[in-house]
Amino acid sequence: MAEWSSSVTEAGVQPNWREQIQVLISAEKWSPTIQPIAEKIANCERVTIDEGLILYKHKDLTEIGKLAGLAKAARYGKNVFFNSNVHINQTNICVLSCKFCAFRRSKKQTDSYELSIDSYLEKLDEYSPFVDEVHSVGGLHPDWDIEYYETLFQTVRDKFPNISIKALTAVEIKHLAKNSNLSFQDILIRLKNAGLTSIPGGGAEILNDEIRDIICRGKETTSEYLEIHEAAHVNNIPSNCTMLFGTLESLRDRLVHMDLLRRLADKHSMFQCFVPYPFLPDHSRLPEAQLATANEILRTIAISRLMLDSIPHIKAYRMNIGDELAEIALHYGADDVDGTVGQESIMHLAGAKSSLNYNVYNMAKLITDAGFVPIKRDTTYQNFTTVSVEAPKRIKKLNVIQS
Ligand code: SF4
Repeated sequence: MAEWSSSVTEAGVQPNWREQIQVLISAEKWSPTIQPIAEKIANCERVTIDEGLILYKHKDLTEIGKLAGLAKAARYGKNVFFNSNVHINQTNICVLSCKFCAFRRSKKQTDSYELSIDSYLEKLDEYSPFVDEVHSVGGLHPDWDIEYYETLFQTVRDKFPNISIKALTAVEIKHLAKNSNLSFQDILIRLKNAGLTSIPGGGAEILNDEIRDIICRGKETTSEYLEIHEAAHVNNIPSNCTMLFGTLESLRDRLVHMDLLRRLADKHSMFQCFVPYPFLPDHSRLPEAQLATANEILRTIAISRLMLDSIPHIKAYRMNIGDELAEIALHYGADDVDGTVGQESIMHLAGAKSSLNYNVYNMAKLITDAGFVPIKRDTTYQNFTTVSVEAPKRIKKLNVIQS
């Protein structure tokens, strides 16, 4: 297995990608509608929100996919990244009641839970031989403050020094700040000192306060989401960012969302990965949602690649979109697939059907089957290992049974 490394801000991007993108895009023929946008992308100029709308409305999905695929190929060639992680949701007790959420429970509900530090460690112990990251997000527990998480992270770091802790979305940081009477900065610095490696991007939903007020009233506002991630970045804590689409937002709302994120990425280069995922309707409560089709999911992944020029990685979140669509998304600009997962509740209670308990072989096979080279990465995209698995073998001829 070949190994190499990169800095946090380069995050594995090929240094000559700007020359590459020019060569790759200029070698292709584009329709008259797409040609001017393709030229801008080839020259590394930023795609505007209005041009993003043209990409959303353009009938030929495959042309948008081809453009995004080349933008990805310029940065990573055939490489596609994945990590070996486990999700542990520390509690489902939450003081909020977001309309789309199928996970939260009140303290009184019989199926509510809160993991003690020992039970958390027990769960992690089961997966520790196979993973190098624990991804922990959960409800906003009314009684937990910074001390629970400080003790948890310190204990995880001491017991499992090789496992990175990617934990706590922006709204959880906000909630901890309130419960602990501390600033966002203070919370992040203390958690970093206790062992936090990076923060996930969840909770961005759609960065439009009118829509947020309907679908997730009480969560952090748009400016708070950006402020919390910026506070992480200035303290050298990298983060991911997300977008939940297919609820009540317009196409323009999605593009404005991407624009806000790329502007923050311009300032600190510490957003590592953008994770666009569609709203899953089962068991949750948002009947007015305009659900995203497969065309829209692939298109949104492709447009993310083209809009988010300052965010290196675009993720196909297989847990949410399923393994089959994740495989196709790798041809539509996504360069990263998350992940082995192990166990997870939030997406699966909301209707996700994707397999849990994937291992490195399954991940590498998914990527190889799609025609790419699997690269196992760490949480902060600094250390990489190329993984080889055999390409799928097909029998040459099926036996036909004559009746
Ligand atoms: S999405 Fe998060 S904050 Fe909202 S109700 Fe669910 S657990 Fe609570």
